[in-house]
Amino acid sequence: MLIQTILNKLEKFKSFVYKKVFLKKLFPTSSEVLVVEIAARKNSRGACSACGKSCPTYDRQPIRYYEYVPLWAIQVYFAYAPRRVKCREHGIHVEQVPWAHGKQQMTKTYQLFLARWAKRLSWKEVAVVFQTSWESVYRSIEWVVNYGLDNADWSGITQIGVDEMAFFKGHNYLTCVYQLDKGRRRLLWCGKDRTAKTLLRFFRKLGKERSELLQFVCSDMWPAYLKVIKKKAVNALNILDRFHIMKKFNEAIDEVRRDEVKELKSKEQENVLANGRWLLLKKAQNLTEKQTVRLNKLLKINLSSIKAYLMREDFQQFWEMKFPFWGNKFLDDWATRAMQSNLAPMKKLAKMLRRHKDLILNWFSADGLSSGPVEGLNTKAKLAVRKAYGFKTLKCLQIALYHQLGDLKEPPWTHRFC
Ligand SMILES: [Zn+2]
Repeated sequence: MLIQTILNKLEKFKSFVYKKVFLKKLFPTSSEVLVVEIAARKNSRGACSACGKSCPTYDRQPIRYYEYVPLWAIQVYFAYAPRRVKCREHGIHVEQVPWAHGKQQMTKTYQLFLARWAKRLSWKEVAVVFQTSWESVYRSIEWVVNYGLDNADWSGITQIGVDEMAFFKGHNYLTCVYQLDKGRRRLLWCGKDRTAKTLLRFFRKLGKERSELLQFVCSDMWPAYLKVIKKKAVNALNILDRFHIMKKFNEAIDEVRRDEVKELKSKEQENVLANGRWLLLKKAQNLTEKQTVRLNKLLKINLSSIKAYLMREDFQQFWEMKFPFWGNKFLDDWATRAMQSNLAPMKKLAKMLRRHKDLILNWFSADGLSSGPVEGLNTKAKLAVRKAYGFKTLKCLQIALYHQLGDLKEPPWTHRFC
């Protein structure tokens, strides 16, 4: 069977035909590639790249090579000499070919192929496996993501979660908005910073009508977020959810631990806490056997870190309560105990919880809303960022997040290569 026959089965372009297929050294340094010649059908006319209308040919340009999906680990290129067409409206333009967009040197099919692999592997791995550059992988994903964003369906959103994410190791933040409706959990939007302005940008995009349809908004206690949610999601219940609150506990425990490590060092005592961070931050039931033994040893020593740890474990009961009345009472009692504790970070946390009690107790009114999805999406987001390593710009990070978590529509393709 001829390669042309297969190509005609996979992807047939109206007004164009596959001609000769041969091996050729395209670049002096690389190995031979498979070249597929393409020609325009006789008497056909090229499309103006500005309006898409078919126009008379003006002249012909030198041959261009467009990278296609590799075959048997051999790189494949389409070779075509594009026409310049004379459009009545737009003047002389290089024709728009159906297999690539704009001045792109990769075919759309190959770009979609790379973008699909980049959901499973890191971008760098994709570049290595398919003998292409990281830049090409990035450009491919960017195109697929932009297509998805342009064609996104934002109807029927009733539950969202607002989350912040630190990036580039510094004090850079990204605000992520997730849809949390059952069966449609995805990243809707992400924008730079975590200011009121950032979140306002999301609500502007969502529009007044759709904002009014929101029933639940999960968020953390960040004042800028709370302010905007109150103003824009007028019919929604703002909930400080379990995941975000327990995150605050972990931050407080870590602060207590760090202070204590400093103190132990200054007194030249044995530093039992040096590597104890994860023991204290993990949920008790998630510890390995070895870690449980270590934790039990730590628990025997009367450390502030342990006190803080036990205070968090104590608070977990809050989430098991069935009625707001008991939740309210529990929260008050817990805060009173925390205020008597001598641990500044825990006291700070207790004050914060008291201040936001109403929003925390909203948890009881959001029947069926679990904080699992918020946590899951947050974890996936961190993973996506790690997979895309090599990027240096914020834009690149946003594209990585949309690609992995946006559940975006893909450009149509006639044959699924992967
Ligand atoms: Zn035109």
